[in-house]
Amino acid sequence: MVSFVYFIFDAEFQTKRMSLLTVGSVAFDAIETPFGKTDKIIGGAGTYIALAASFYKNEQKIISVVGEDFPQEMLDQLTARNVDISGLQIKKGEKTFFWSGKYHNDMNSRDTLITDLNVLEDFNPIVPDSYQGADFLMLGNLMPKLQLSVINQLKKRPKLIVMDTMNFWMEIALDDLKEVLKKVDVLMVNDGEARQLSGEYSLVKAAKVIMKMGPTFLIIKKGEHGALLFHEKDVFFAPALPLEEVFDPTGAGDTFAGGFIGHIAKTKDISFENMKTAIIVGSAMASFCVEKFGPQRMKEITKADIDARLSEFVQLVNFDIDLV
Ligand code: AMP
Repeated sequence: MVSFVYFIFDAEFQTKRMSLLTVGSVAFDAIETPFGKTDKIIGGAGTYIALAASFYKNEQKIISVVGEDFPQEMLDQLTARNVDISGLQIKKGEKTFFWSGKYHNDMNSRDTLITDLNVLEDFNPIVPDSYQGADFLMLGNLMPKLQLSVINQLKKRPKLIVMDTMNFWMEIALDDLKEVLKKVDVLMVNDGEARQLSGEYSLVKAAKVIMKMGPTFLIIKKGEHGALLFHEKDVFFAPALPLEEVFDPTGAGDTFAGGFIGHIAKTKDISFENMKTAIIVGSAMASFCVEKFGPQRMKEITKADIDARLSEFVQLVNFDIDLV
């Protein structure tokens, strides 16, 4: 009987379009790079994730908050890409989260100039009934307490919970962050954050420490130097595509996350082998994101552009060797 029920459940899992729930900021950003400067443009981790994942045609839902000043046009664009925004709260009379940053000449490091929390300050994420039963959960970089609140509101645990976070939360909300870590399957951080969280300089040692905190998979992003995937004793390295020009790295990490989870949800496969492919997909998407300011490139490219770039990745790492 048990195996029969499992068979039915599994058959449904194989055929159904998977639902992907994303939690993350939807924001205004102002960005300065050595190439130029923007006024207020659309940004936010949730925006980048949703746009990137939308190429993989899952049933997408987002939880976030904006103020009355946020353009309806961008919300319409999300809806047009089949992102359900019924869990995106619009706060009357309030202002959208605003972040401003300035990149150094190397484009690998940046200073945060302004963080105006505005609507994020007292954001209470509410999971609508229609969002229950999501198969995959992508927790974009946000206050750990809010990430935890969403996990706790879900009546059924998703098949995979992926979490992004940043050094800022390690500094001001480490205890909350550790609580979330106990509940997630995959953590994404950059190399500096992995070192900060683990207290280890060696990334291999850092991975061992972090995987004891909860996540069984760990992705360490190294910017233009690619990304590492750790799971038990296995390690996989994916390069970043060598680009002639990086115009604006804002949102590259979130776009990577969107491509990663979009591919996993589409293929319904949460194995280490498939995560290797997902990391390459994430890297390909991120390589587009950095070509223009903000999420502009995510709005311009097609699935065919992404596939062509994936082929470039295959060429990049493909080689034969005769061991003599
Ligand atoms: P990334 O370049 O991948 O680190 O992501 C940049 C995006 O994260 C920007 O569009 C910002 O709006 C958003 N962001 C920056 N700081 C925060 C924060 N403290 N909480 C939530 N989102 C943030």
